[in-house]
Amino acid sequence: RTVYVNGEYLPENEAKVSIFDRAFLMADGVYEVTSVLDGKLIDFDGHAVRLQRSLDELDMPSPCTMDELLEIHRELVKINEIEEGMVYLQVTRGAPDDRDFVFPDPETTPPTLVLFTQNKPGLADNPVAQKGIKVISIDDQRWGRRDIKTVQLLYPSMGKMMAKKAGADDAWLVEDGFVTEGTSNNAYFIKGNTIVTRGLSNDILHGITRAAVLRFAREAQMQVEERNFTIAEAQAADEAFITSASTFVMPVVEIDGAKIGAGVPGSNALRLREIYLDESRKAAI
Ligand code: PMP
Repeated sequence: RTVYVNGEYLPENEAKVSIFDRAFLMADGVYEVTSVLDGKLIDFDGHAVRLQRSLDELDMPSPCTMDELLEIHRELVKINEIEEGMVYLQVTRGAPDDRDFVFPDPETTPPTLVLFTQNKPGLADNPVAQKGIKVISIDDQRWGRRDIKTVQLLYPSMGKMMAKKAGADDAWLVEDGFVTEGTSNNAYFIKGNTIVTRGLSNDILHGITRAAVLRFAREAQMQVEERNFTIAEAQAADEAFITSASTFVMPVVEIDGAKIGAGVPGSNALRLREIYLDESRKAAI
């Protein structure tokens, strides 16, 4: 696989980042994952805008312009012949000469930019979507700025392990009695013609897929309520699902052992998945 590091395209085993890089020592980095369908980027602009926002919120310099970022994405997709898969991008505050909590001067310590592709044939036709996934609920013990897409993924990673040990596929995070989001996705339920998902704040990541799916849902004459909800309310719903750039719309059929609706993917969730895939493919660049 050819990867990109700080201006160079290299075979993955030749790519190097310093041990003093602040993402390695302090999780001082942000990232984006953009999916690829038909060799084209899905929702690239949304990811680029959110990346810029993450950088701004952390006072981190931009490594390049967003046009250059698009070029790098396209080049990697082309070189690695990705038809379906993802492009992972990470920007860190760079590698100062020594370990220090204080941010380094960006003049002497430029940001580190790394991109690589992940080839995932069958991403859109994922058979898991026809079966749905099971989730458990766990306490949300992440930091308070979940709107910034940082590489601090230890707790989400632990959450996926807790789910796996419990025989489930993923976990929904709960804070003060209300669901925030999934470990790496946004969380929803559907009751009647109404989709419910938590509103945007610093408590959750502002999903790019979330924005698109809610827009398509409104266009399909569904009601959308952005508000807090409990696990019990979701368990009593007709349908549930998650969204993310890599899973698109994925039905949830069980929460903490309780079947949602008939315990099979809901028709609205499956329809939203179809609409999302169709529309995103048309708008891909
Ligand atoms: N919430 C969290 C915590 C995530 O990690 C992700 C995916 N990275 C999402 C939501 C979904 O965001 P998107 O639709 O932009 O992939």
